[in-house]
Amino acid sequence: MVASECAPVAKVGGLADVVFGLSRELELRGHDVEIVLPKYDCMRYDRIWGLQPSYDDLWVPWRGGTVHCTVWFGFVDGRKCFFIDPHSAENYFNRGTFYGCNDDEMRFAFFSKGALEFMLKAGKRPQVIHTHDWQTGLLPVMLFEMYKFHGMEHQRVCHTVHNFRHQGIAGADVLWATGLNRFDYYYARNRLADEYNASAINYTKAAIVFSNFVTTVSPTHAWEARHTDQSFGLGHILYQHQNKFGGVLNGLDYDSWNPELDRHVARRYNAGCIEQKYVNKDALRERLWLRKDFKPLIACVGRLDSQKGVHLIRHALFYSIWNRAQFVLLGTGPEAGVNDEFWRIKRYLNDSPDCHLEIGYDESLAHLIYAGADMLVVPSLFEPCGLTQMIAMRYGTIPIVRGVGGLKDTVSDWNYPSGCGGPRNGYVFYQPDYPGIESALRRAIGLWYGYPEQFHELVRNAMACDYSWRDPAQHYLNIYEYIRHK
Ligand code: ADP
Repeated sequence: MVASECAPVAKVGGLADVVFGLSRELELRGHDVEIVLPKYDCMRYDRIWGLQPSYDDLWVPWRGGTVHCTVWFGFVDGRKCFFIDPHSAENYFNRGTFYGCNDDEMRFAFFSKGALEFMLKAGKRPQVIHTHDWQTGLLPVMLFEMYKFHGMEHQRVCHTVHNFRHQGIAGADVLWATGLNRFDYYYARNRLADEYNASAINYTKAAIVFSNFVTTVSPTHAWEARHTDQSFGLGHILYQHQNKFGGVLNGLDYDSWNPELDRHVARRYNAGCIEQKYVNKDALRERLWLRKDFKPLIACVGRLDSQKGVHLIRHALFYSIWNRAQFVLLGTGPEAGVNDEFWRIKRYLNDSPDCHLEIGYDESLAHLIYAGADMLVVPSLFEPCGLTQMIAMRYGTIPIVRGVGGLKDTVSDWNYPSGCGGPRNGYVFYQPDYPGIESALRRAIGLWYGYPEQFHELVRNAMACDYSWRDPAQHYLNIYEYIRHK
């Protein structure tokens, strides 16, 4: 695995969980997995065991010269990880942040090159190199255009796109720095040239063109990427490479998210004693100063980002408290404007005994919310996979989702079962507007009050779903096996 994140040491989003979770599942099945990461200064060093230099004499060709790197080795919750540590004036990974620098494209192009150079020099010849997101998009280009001729001719690349919104756009200086010097060749429309800016190269497009197989994180999102605007300009190149493109649903880390063992909840439970879940509902109400009343508790956990449908989250909040339900929100957003809006709502509803907004990031509260709530809304405008709905189901909390991407693949509507085709385990609406989300909320609240037996059946169905890494890991193994013989 070559990636810019791995949970829990370097985590910004879902990518980190996938790299860790998939690696662990593959190892449990007897495969030898090693993870290559940048050595950031801001990593959780307390979560790395036995960190020590493992290869001190790595000289990475860069900008016509070379950069000296040390490669460190350590275990991250049992996974074997190598960390590339360049000693150069640019200090690529000592910036106190994972992303957000002006030269991010250059930093991660260097990382990709360093990872390949490390494999070449350290004699590592993995059958498959699995790269993730734009940060490692140039790796397959360098592998098949350069390293292949220096002793890495048998390696194959599977690339996973976790989010098409961030594609990695750079200028010709990156090509020069990495040694990919045939500018006219790479700038061709069917190779690296960006669809919107012909004088720029696009890392994600590069990965799509040069990898042996490309995946995204759910089958429905793979379809959306090809047929709608959700690939942000890459639909055509995906169409051209459709024979090597598919969607594999992410798995959920069943060790971290397990109501039977969760140390953050007030009472542990499983499908056999669902009534214990209501101890958590009371604990959650106590913690958030909500009144104990005979009402369903609806929650929302996640980034307050336009992708997540913030206007629908806000509407769900008011609709719930006006329609005999309680509402809890835990989230924080990258945009100050959105956060401010939710702070205003929080102040406005300060005295409401039926509503609480927690604006911030709180892992422990998130666990208690999944365990204590009756329903969870996820009204995303687009959602490559989505974890919160899967976590909710594991905790017997009914997801109310918009039918896009991975949400559509994991949730099947109680009244209109289609979606993922599995057992009915939640509510799905399609139109991203107020009547759309109201229709789903109305049906969910109605079932909770009017037909408690059926609501319990829904809870049992949700808890019976298996969204662990078991199936996704097998899909990836099939892909690895397929490209190994290509
Ligand atoms: P994203 O698009 O952010 O990756 P996902 O649904 O794939 O969305 O994953 C979100 C993960 O982050 C979930 O595990 C969720 O519990 C967690 N999370 C999001 N926001 C918060 C928060 N404010 N506090 C605690 N956990 C959060």
